[in-house]
Amino acid sequence: MAIERTLSIVKPDAVENHRIGAILAMIEEAGLKIRGMRMLHLTRPQAEGFYAVHKERPFFGELVEFMTRGPVVVSVLEGDDAVKRYRDLMGATNPAEAAEGTIRKRYAKDIGENAVHGSDSADNAKIEVAYFFPGYEL
Ligand code: ADP
Ligand code: MG
Repeated sequence: MAIERTLSIVKPDAVENHRIGAILAMIEEAGLKIRGMRMLHLTRPQAEGFYAVHKERPFFGELVEFMTRGPVVVSVLEGDDAVKRYRDLMGATNPAEAAEGTIRKRYAKDIGENAVHGSDSADNAKIEVAYFFPGYEL
């Protein structure tokens, strides 16, 4: 299996609820290595740019509003098959459908405020890592 990197975001709801440590512990316990990390409060243009693929969706405005309402913790995770393994650890987008033991099952409120982001493919992971860590040697 290929060593991959993926981008994780602990979203504003989880930061507000003091879940940064609990979520990072789940990531480390799952065997994913944290290779880079930043805490920042996204600007509107940063959030709009990050979620540009969703700009025609009806929830886009709500999503940008949510993602800019407080700080987030962005990290780069690395490991065998990291993209899929982190998606599995996150659970379904809608926490009502998320499996037991997943981050979203434990910490997400609803389909909008769902605690974490994870890249959905190795190609998108490269784009997303470069978006938050431009020019960094990780
Ligand atoms: P995922 O984060 O699981 O990859 P998507 O890429 O489909 O999910 O959506 C990006 C983010 O947009 C979701 O994590 C969630 O915060 C928000 N979102 C998705 N669908 C909805 C919806 N129906 N209503 C409100 N917010 C949504
Ligand atoms: Mg997605």
